[in-house]
Amino acid sequence: MRAKVAVRQTSPCTRCGAPVMMNAFANGEVLELCAACDRDDPAAAQMIAWVLVDGRGSGGDRAATEEGARLMTAWMKSEMAKRGWEWVDTETGRAT
Ligand SMILES: [Zn+2]
Repeated sequence: MRAKVAVRQTSPCTRCGAPVMMNAFANGEVLELCAACDRDDPAAAQMIAWVLVDGRGSGGDRAATEEGARLMTAWMKSEMAKRGWEWVDTETGRAT
């Protein structure tokens, strides 16, 4: 699966109308990360904490950046799984 990610501050959440923290686009699906709506979802909550609570999203620290990438991937996998998608290793054909 190929995914594109864009960070936006002003697009409204389609569920509550608050600004979303992040949109991600994957296989025609639009994923929204909303601090209000997604705080009880485990994968989303970790991503929200990384951005908001820890404040690590803007530091430029390599370890923090790698952690953010890992959390974002976990969140996207979780959201795509809810929509019936699974991430597959293109070399092995196995779900990741
Ligand atoms: Zn919302």
